[in-house]
Amino acid sequence: MQTCLPIESAFPKAHHSLQSRVVWGSRVVTVGGDAPVRVQSMTNTDTVDAIGTAIQVKELALAGSEMVRITVNTPEAAAAVPYVREQLDRMGIDVPLIGDFHYNGHRLLTDYPACAQALSKYRINPGNVGKGNKRDTQFGQMIEAALRWNKVVRIGVNWGSLDQELLASLMDENSARSAPWDARQVMYEALITSAIDSAQRAEDMGMRRDQIILSCKVSGVQDLISVYRELAKRTDHVLHLGLTEAGMGTKGTVASATALSILLQEGIGDTIRVSLTPQPGEARTQEVVIASEILQALGLRTFVPSVTACPGCGRTTSTTFQELAKQIDDFLRAQMPVWREQYPGVEGLRVAVMGCIVNGPGESKHADIGISLPGSGEAPAAPVFIDGEKRLTLRGDNIAQEFQVIVENYIENRFGAHAVAQAS
Ligand code: SF4
Repeated sequence: MQTCLPIESAFPKAHHSLQSRVVWGSRVVTVGGDAPVRVQSMTNTDTVDAIGTAIQVKELALAGSEMVRITVNTPEAAAAVPYVREQLDRMGIDVPLIGDFHYNGHRLLTDYPACAQALSKYRINPGNVGKGNKRDTQFGQMIEAALRWNKVVRIGVNWGSLDQELLASLMDENSARSAPWDARQVMYEALITSAIDSAQRAEDMGMRRDQIILSCKVSGVQDLISVYRELAKRTDHVLHLGLTEAGMGTKGTVASATALSILLQEGIGDTIRVSLTPQPGEARTQEVVIASEILQALGLRTFVPSVTACPGCGRTTSTTFQELAKQIDDFLRAQMPVWREQYPGVEGLRVAVMGCIVNGPGESKHADIGISLPGSGEAPAAPVFIDGEKRLTLRGDNIAQEFQVIVENYIENRFGAHAVAQAS
């Protein structure tokens, strides 16, 4: 006879990193430790255009980005940063801003103290803070600014801009080995060494370990997994996770989701960014949507109500159910910035939109609210299930609109102030 033991539920392993606090005013975003995995994003506006940048930061924040990075590449951009911050504060958007610095960050953070102050975190790339003996001095100036203004830094190594002197010295060491490593393994080592040695230099200058976040970004899925597994073994620093230059559309989405999910499942990564190249006309906020979906799919976070929809098949002769699924999904997402405040807990709502009787009623019963549309050969009726019970049947040309009203009423009744007052 077989021993019958319950099958263990899969769930991401716990994180074991320190915890950083990224602060703006009274807004504190904790990253790492027992904090939920955070979503961040980056603007693609010219920071000199303070209004345009503030508007995009606002859009990203409303889409769910908990920190937003902006480019600080010129004196004009550094001068504009306090105005970006001011605009956001005026609009009531307190999302922390991260400054992305390359080559001249030491000068900009020194010459533009209002910029250094308006940012909540500085991204430093050790591969391009300077060459030769200038490197340590210029890196040091950026750390001094972080210490002066009490800011968190991310030491963000990227294989496209890896410290070439460090790589050359590791290559030399490697060629002296009796059994030299593969060039790729030397590159992994260089990425990790660059991040950890830079963090050590920052700590030697007085930064606390919890003020330093690390990342080692590469563009290959297997490379990212290899590097982060090792990085997580060697350090307890907070880790920022992301596939760099992930690409466009489906390719970028799938590659990011694959790499990030494997690592997050292993408890590696405290904050994520999906570096998606927007397709022409696509909103920048898409990268936030995908990052949130990855965390929600893994069961790590809940951001928006989920819409379960079947893929459709030969039993669905019209596009009605596809249109209804999209309409409901778009509607729920569009409402979330307001609903988050108005209906606490609504993000956990589960809606099902199904194409026929085969799985329609079953899946709809598992959801909080579901509809099973008629497939080919079925009577033109769409039963609606609420909390597992069939409650009514919709017919005619306005099924979509009527179902949306039913969803709205359900939300008001279950999550509205009236429902909360009754429960307390
Ligand atoms: S629920 Fe019906 S329409 Fe949808 S995929 Fe299954 S069989 Fe096809």
